[in-house]
Amino acid sequence: MPPVSSLAIDERLSVLHEELAELTGQRNAIDARIVEIAAEIDRDELWAAAGARSTAGWLAWKAGVSPSRAQTIAAIAHRFDEFPQCIEGLAQGRFSVDQVGVIAERGLPGSDEHFATMAQCATVSQLRTALKMQPKPTPEPQPVDEADDEDDDGEAVADPGPQVSITSTSDEQYTYWHIALPHVENAAFEAALASHRDALVAEWSTGDPDGRGPIPSTAAAFLRLVHAGWDAEAAARPHGQRTTVVVHVDVAEKVAALHLGPVLLEHDRRYLTCDATCEVWFHRDGQVIGAGRSTRTVNRRLRRALEHRDRECVVPGCGATRALHAHHLVHWEDGGPTELWNLALVCPYHHRAHHRGLITITGPADQLVVTDAAGRALTSASLARTPTQPLPDVAPCPGPTGERANWWWYQPYETRPPDD
Ligand SMILES: [Zn+2]
Ligand SMILES: [Zn+2]
Repeated sequence: MPPVSSLAIDERLSVLHEELAELTGQRNAIDARIVEIAAEIDRDELWAAAGARSTAGWLAWKAGVSPSRAQTIAAIAHRFDEFPQCIEGLAQGRFSVDQVGVIAERGLPGSDEHFATMAQCATVSQLRTALKMQPKPTPEPQPVDEADDEDDDGEAVADPGPQVSITSTSDEQYTYWHIALPHVENAAFEAALASHRDALVAEWSTGDPDGRGPIPSTAAAFLRLVHAGWDAEAAARPHGQRTTVVVHVDVAEKVAALHLGPVLLEHDRRYLTCDATCEVWFHRDGQVIGAGRSTRTVNRRLRRALEHRDRECVVPGCGATRALHAHHLVHWEDGGPTELWNLALVCPYHHRAHHRGLITITGPADQLVVTDAAGRALTSASLARTPTQPLPDVAPCPGPTGERANWWWYQPYETRPPDD
């Protein structure tokens, strides 16, 4: 193959780079305006009226961006007044939303000028490194209650010690769990894992030597541990998550009270008794007439069918997949049956929002309509459309110079004592 003329490549690259710098500057300036809008939404909690669960949730939905990008923008919006110089750099097209985002996520109060200066040449990952070098924020001294101060030796509050933590990330094929166990908890985990592995190996060794597969792995023992735990939980609470809530309903009066607790407001009664995972006792004229599970219980089979159909909270733009409730579209108090067409999976937030009248969810399930407080139908579509306004008039942004950072000479941000 003949060598491509390097001059031609240089020319092409410089044309492309120039256009990229122009577009990057404009995009940064546009992002600044988006941050401003998100700040207004965040300040007045307008996301709730729009039917979302948070500023980030609203943004991911309405702008059609990924949850992590939405988190970044929401982080800046939330600290809008604390980082005026960084946001000014964004508005002038000089900084990217990711640069300002890491600063807003981690920067200490008062660090605006320090990081605005640094962002002129530092890449996102260099900024991240610098942010990690900030002093650990000293916790505000707790006001000491003189009267019942139990340890008088002036010691700081005892360090709670290492804590259990669990996080996960996913790609197309796997979900990766990162579990940090302090040694004490880990001892129990290892013992449980070892006993499940022993049980698997015992089963394996009694099997037919010709037909059996490889010796069971620790991973198989881990799955056995999970299933054993899940089965025990399902046996203890066959109908899901909230069986510990006990509600008493007077059928004639349609009033309800929590067990040994207060009389419930109308919307709380309907919310609590909706997905039938709480225990409801029916009364008439002060007499218990039954625990009435049969008509409203979502059994495991129905629940699986519902999960298979809905997958996630049915409110557009929500996407929650955990701890979902089975909501009766026509409440069972009003004769709505516990059948698939009358049920919809909703997250606890939207379930409560519906029963409080913030949003309305109307069935049947195959023609579901969700509207916000003003009665506008919600759809999962983003607001994106072809622009009609001129592009922001800002200078091209070639990006941070990203020169090799010399951390040896870098002065981390230090909090200064307040001026007198
Ligand atoms: Zn409900
Ligand atoms: Zn939801």
